[in-house]
Amino acid sequence: MVPANTYRNNTQERRSRLGTLGNIVSTGQGSGTRQGKGGRPPVPVQPIEERQRAARLRRYQLQNHAARLLPQEGIAHCLRRPTAIAPVVEVQFVPSKHSAHYRGLQMCKSVWHCPICAAKISEQRRGELARLVEKHVAAGGSVYMTTYTIRHDRYDDLADLVDRFLVARRKMRQGRRGMALRKNYGVVGTVSVLEVTWSGENGWHPHQHELVFVEGELDVDAYEQDARQAWKDAAASQGLTMNEHGFVLQRTYGAVADYIAKYGREPAVDNVWGVESEMTKGHIKQGREEKHYTPFAMLAAIADGVTRLEPKFQEYGRVFKGRKQLNYSPGLKDLYQEEEKTDEDLIEEPQGEEAFTILEIEKEPWSQVVEKNVRGNLLERARAGRIGDCVAGLEELGIESRPADLRGWQVITPAGLARVATMRRCDILHRWRCSVALEEPSEGSSWRVYDLVEVTLIAAPGTVLEA
Ligand SMILES: [Zn+2]
Repeated sequence: MVPANTYRNNTQERRSRLGTLGNIVSTGQGSGTRQGKGGRPPVPVQPIEERQRAARLRRYQLQNHAARLLPQEGIAHCLRRPTAIAPVVEVQFVPSKHSAHYRGLQMCKSVWHCPICAAKISEQRRGELARLVEKHVAAGGSVYMTTYTIRHDRYDDLADLVDRFLVARRKMRQGRRGMALRKNYGVVGTVSVLEVTWSGENGWHPHQHELVFVEGELDVDAYEQDARQAWKDAAASQGLTMNEHGFVLQRTYGAVADYIAKYGREPAVDNVWGVESEMTKGHIKQGREEKHYTPFAMLAAIADGVTRLEPKFQEYGRVFKGRKQLNYSPGLKDLYQEEEKTDEDLIEEPQGEEAFTILEIEKEPWSQVVEKNVRGNLLERARAGRIGDCVAGLEELGIESRPADLRGWQVITPAGLARVATMRRCDILHRWRCSVALEEPSEGSSWRVYDLVEVTLIAAPGTVLEA
C-alpha cells in the first residue's frame, strides 16, 4: 500500500533532497523540534511519522553513548561490527512495512544496555504479554497489577541492593507463605518485570512489577493484606525495609492494559526529546533532582550533555548485565500456547520474507559508515525507498556502496509509476542510471532513463502495488 499522496511527497522530496547523509546526522535535532523564543523549550511541530523517525535516529545516538560508556560489553559492537560469516553488510528494505534494517552485523541483544535491541525485544514482549492477558480474560480469569519496592537512599550500592531485593523476592515466591498465597487466591501464574530508576535525591530504586493471573475474581483487600505481609517479612530477612508503598496492588483492569501498552516504550526516546531534555537540564541546573530517571532517560540526559550521570549509567550497566528482565512463572505460557522465547530468539527472528537487499557495503567502507555516524540516517533513506539517495549520500562522504540488481522493481519516477528494466553505472556521469518502462505511457513513449536518485522503490519484482 502506498499512500495516495506519495506522488506529491515524492516531488517535494526531490526538490528538497537533503544534500549529504552527514548534514542530518547528529540527532535529528532541528528537524525534530522548533526552538522556542527566549530560551523556552522547543515546540514540537512534527506529525507522528516525523516523530517516529526522530525516535529511531535518537536510538542510534543513545546507543553511541552507551557503547562509549560500556566499551567492554557487546553493545560496543552492536550494529557496528560485521559478523564473522557475513561477506558484506546489507541494507534490507521491507516495502510492505516501509521499514529497513541491516543484515550481517553483530547485535548485542541486551535489553538493559542497548536502546535499539531493547526496542526490538520489548515490542515483541509487549505482544506476548497482551496475548496472554487477552487469552486469560477470555477464559474467564482476571489479571491484576502489583508492584514490589523497598526503602532505599542515595548511599545505597546498586549491586548489593538489587541482589538483596531479588533474593527477598525469590524467598517470598518459593516460601510457604508465597505458595499459600497462590493456592488460597486461585493464582494461575505471574509475570514479573524487573525495573530500576535513579534519582539524585533517593538514589537507585530497583522494583518489580508483577502481573497476577487469577481464576475468576480476586478478593483484592485480603490478597493485598496477605501479600504485603509476606513481602515485608521476606524483605526483612534480607535486611530491607519498606514504607506503605512497599507493596501496591492496582485494582483496575485499566492499570494492566496501561502497563502493557507502555511496556518497553521509552518516553525519553519515543517522545519529542527536546522537551524532555530541557526539563532534565532545568532540574539539574536548579539542583532539584527529584526526577526519576529510567536508564535510557539517563542516557538521553547524558547525550544532552549531563555528563555527571555517566558513572551512574556505567554502574547500572555492570549490575544489570545478564539479568533476566521478565520472569514468567512456570507453566503460564504453556497454558496459553505461547512459545518460550529468549531475548536472543526474538532478535534473531526473521523480519518476514518480504525483506529485500537493496544495497551492499563491503566491510572496509562499512567501518566508515560507523565512524561517520550515519547508520541511522542511511536506514531512514532506505525505508523511504530512496535507494539512489543512499548511494549518493554515502558517495558524498567518500564511502563506496553497491545497489542491488533492481530490475523488475516498481518505482515512482517523475513521469509516474514504472518498472525498472535495466540499471548500470555511468562512468561518464559517475552515477547510477536506470531505464524504466512506464506503466502509463505518455507522449507516445513508455521508456525513460533516470538517475537512480530520481526514482523511489515501492514494490519488489513480482509484487503488485495495491491501489
Ligand atoms: Zn544492541
